Amino acid sequence: MSNRPDLPPEIARRRTFAIISHPDAGKTTLTEKFLLFGGAIQMAGQVRAKGEARRTRSDFMKLEQDRGISVSASAMSFDFRQYRFNLVDTPGHSDFSEDTYRTLTAVDAAIMVIDGAKGVESQTRKLFEVCRLRDLPILTFCNKMDRESRDTFEIIDEIQENLAIDVAPASWPIGMGRDFLGCYDILHDRLELMDRADRNRVAESIKISGLDDPKLAEHVPAEQLEKLREELEMARELLPAFDRQSFLEGHMTPIWFGSAINSFGVKELMDGIGEYGPEPQIQKSAERGVAPEETKVTGFVFKVQANMDPKHRDRVAFVRLASGHFERGMKLLHVRSGKPMAVSNPVLFLAADRELAEEAWAGDIIGIPNHGQLRIGDALTEGEKLRFTGIPSFAPELLQSVRATDPMKGKHLEKALMQFAEEGAAKVFKPSIGSGFIVGVVGALQFDVLASRIEIEYGIPVRFEPSQFTSARWVLGPKDTVEKLANANKQHISTDHDGDIVFLTRLQWDIDRVVRDYPGVTLSATKEMM
Ligand code: GDP
Repeated sequence: MSNRPDLPPEIARRRTFAIISHPDAGKTTLTEKFLLFGGAIQMAGQVRAKGEARRTRSDFMKLEQDRGISVSASAMSFDFRQYRFNLVDTPGHSDFSEDTYRTLTAVDAAIMVIDGAKGVESQTRKLFEVCRLRDLPILTFCNKMDRESRDTFEIIDEIQENLAIDVAPASWPIGMGRDFLGCYDILHDRLELMDRADRNRVAESIKISGLDDPKLAEHVPAEQLEKLREELEMARELLPAFDRQSFLEGHMTPIWFGSAINSFGVKELMDGIGEYGPEPQIQKSAERGVAPEETKVTGFVFKVQANMDPKHRDRVAFVRLASGHFERGMKLLHVRSGKPMAVSNPVLFLAADRELAEEAWAGDIIGIPNHGQLRIGDALTEGEKLRFTGIPSFAPELLQSVRATDPMKGKHLEKALMQFAEEGAAKVFKPSIGSGFIVGVVGALQFDVLASRIEIEYGIPVRFEPSQFTSARWVLGPKDTVEKLANANKQHISTDHDGDIVFLTRLQWDIDRVVRDYPGVTLSATKEMM
């Protein structure tokens, strides 16, 4: 089914989405099952195994083990039925919100995974709010139904109340915990039974012609069947029916119940994304909306990752194609620099392996290896000067100074820090007086991640220490006034990785003074990413 039968078929079959959840709800397990059913891996368990193999090299493993969080993000493409799925992974921990928010600018829909026993948790709510800002359609997967869960109506109520969104059941659970049998597929009138013996096997699916079909009684014990009929009748009275338009507008979420670890309910969810999920959407730019079917290729960088392959000091820019049909070797305009760029070795992220992309379509995510030219927010086009909008930049809220424990490694540290600044992993300021650097982040845990990455990826042990500054402001204004200001306030002045001037202070009073003394100058808490 497509809302846009006019789209080229290759674009119409694409579904680009992310999974949002609170840690532990089952995102990794669900991802793994997606890849399994997408034919991208042969056996569940490989995502984590591969992930760890990669991380031991590149490497966040220690941190992930210490804290039980997942830090690395990636994109994965796979086929399912007639669809091409592009799953963009979002790092889960709240301290990595910058990355997560940016990721959500690259997708057309999100899957919200909740734990059937826990309901809507804090991180789910935060991520949901970001999706709502962009009116992203959301599909809900209520996981872990093989465990004691909450009452189905209670779960649905909680989502409706907590997130202020209509919830339409796409499936209905039969029993729960040890008595969980499977689900009644409301959208297709099917009975789906869970196979507890084999976790990687897909459930049995039995076509039913309505709730009075005698076939139901063959598979569902009388007591549970009576409860199912009662509940479905109540659901029909109390809950809205699925409405695709309302879903696409972000006002309604269909909910599936299942158990990711038992591979149950996963295919139905995937079918849901395929059948109802949005095809690639119009992407906003400052100039105009860019439609996927436009023949000219355009795209934007939403993430930059360094050191994905430790043998090469390359960076990979993750580009969401907004329009057109991309072919390897194409020359594109790098809008920010105004320079042409031959994209000769783009990467498609097929499951966990990187593979050269010969072609890609609007909606796809490709990786472009580069040496730092490509920054977050950059646009690539066939000549048009577009600026895609909506990629947020965050004001650093925490500042610390950093130095190498071995003073001989200062120069190397500078290189490492600049690279992380370009990745968008931190803001880095080089004070005009003295040596050392000030690093700004939005969540305290990011300091630990950085320290760990600098040591592992660059072999430089570092120490973060409290800084004398608490605020960073970009100095904007006429060049000569900015210079005058900088010369008169040397102890406050630093430069960021682009060489732009940043005012550091711990007093609001200083900021007020500068604004008063230098008319025409503004001190901005964020620097636009484009
Ligand atoms: P993430 O933090 O959201 O990525 O969650 P994981 O996928 O790592 O799952 C967290 C824990 O829940 C793991 O121990 C999983 O084995 C377990 N888990 C995932 N899905 C299910 C499920 O359907 N039923 C049960 N009982 N446990 C599950």
